[in-house]
Amino acid sequence: MDASNDAPAPPADRPGTPRPFREAIVDLDAIAANVRTVAARTAPAELVAVVKANAYGHGAVPVARAALAGGATRLGVADLDEALELRAAGLAAPIIAWLHDPFADFRPALAAGIELGVSSLDQLERIADAAARRGAEAARIHLKIDTGLSRNGIAETDWAGVCARAAELERQGTVSVVGVFSHFANTSREADAAQLRAFEHALEVTAAEGLRPPLRHIASSEEALRDPAARYDAVRIGIAMYGLTPFGDGTTSTDLGLVPAMTLRTRVAAVRRVEAGTGASYGHLWRADRATTLALVPLGYADGIPRHATGGGAEVRIGGRLRPIAGRVAMDQFLVDVGDDLVAVGDEVVVFGDPATGAPTADDLAAAAGTIGYEVVTRIGPRVVRSHVGGAGA
Ligand SMILES: *Cc1c(COP(=O)(O)O)cnc(C)c1O
Repeated sequence: MDASNDAPAPPADRPGTPRPFREAIVDLDAIAANVRTVAARTAPAELVAVVKANAYGHGAVPVARAALAGGATRLGVADLDEALELRAAGLAAPIIAWLHDPFADFRPALAAGIELGVSSLDQLERIADAAARRGAEAARIHLKIDTGLSRNGIAETDWAGVCARAAELERQGTVSVVGVFSHFANTSREADAAQLRAFEHALEVTAAEGLRPPLRHIASSEEALRDPAARYDAVRIGIAMYGLTPFGDGTTSTDLGLVPAMTLRTRVAAVRRVEAGTGASYGHLWRADRATTLALVPLGYADGIPRHATGGGAEVRIGGRLRPIAGRVAMDQFLVDVGDDLVAVGDEVVVFGDPATGAPTADDLAAAAGTIGYEVVTRIGPRVVRSHVGGAGA
């Protein structure tokens, strides 16, 4: 849901208007700045801004605009419908979509000038057929080689055959091979190196079959930031653009000079003083070890707070201080142990945001729940009102 176009102006601009009960505020200037920060490290490779899954929950259209303003030259999505939504919103930049319904009709995407990832001979034939039936320009395709992730992508054993067929279709004018790509499994440095060697080999075969694709790309955020040898002609950047870390080794977004773009906040809905020994929330997994105050936060797993964050040491910011989640995260709410501090109904609660403001990050919440920041921001639920700030001129 994108509240920026049809909803009233952000509450900050309208004194006296209560903010939405639960809100996710996305700072488009942070998106643009993160793109600039990454691009400064990965240039001259061009930067493909990955805005699949509603821009990891941040709002695909405004994020795509901000990313292009920050220097991205292409947009990447999984589904054709995601690509068509961007086109319909007036985004004219090249867009690549790489995960296709087996029964997809490729003609609307071709008519919209969407570039298509190709992961099998069958997809190649169906795309060429759709282009031939349209009788207009050639379909712009990126052939995907499986170098070790074992998801989609053309198997190494089939690669030469598919390249030969693509070269034939290129001569017939139904397809134009603009890219060859792959995706890392993020398993280990050694496994990444093996995938790079497999990619190099695939590129040699591609050339031997007579194809000269200008865009070779394999790296997403992690390898793009870590390994210059993985950058080739383009890098596909998702998580780093949102200001979260791609690394699982403890490297934080702050270490990388990135700014988390999304802030999730709400208001304290109730406050209760409890005696030592009092149990709270389902199953009484938490019990007061002293007299203390509990603040009720009206966000739960329906809103994207992982239930697995229960007992994981997650903290939220209330009244300028970080305070621990107490007990089970429920569907609509969780409790926070605020000790003897004065916390009132209506006080702001920041569940995650920019650490420069003293907030925990989505990566912190993810770590407490045994998951990754990607999942936390992508799963923010429909009750949370999303709004955008910044991005002037984007
Ligand atoms: C999601 C995705 C990316 C972006 O990955 P990040 O780790 O978020 O940078 C890049 N390439 C492909 C094929 C993807 O599916």
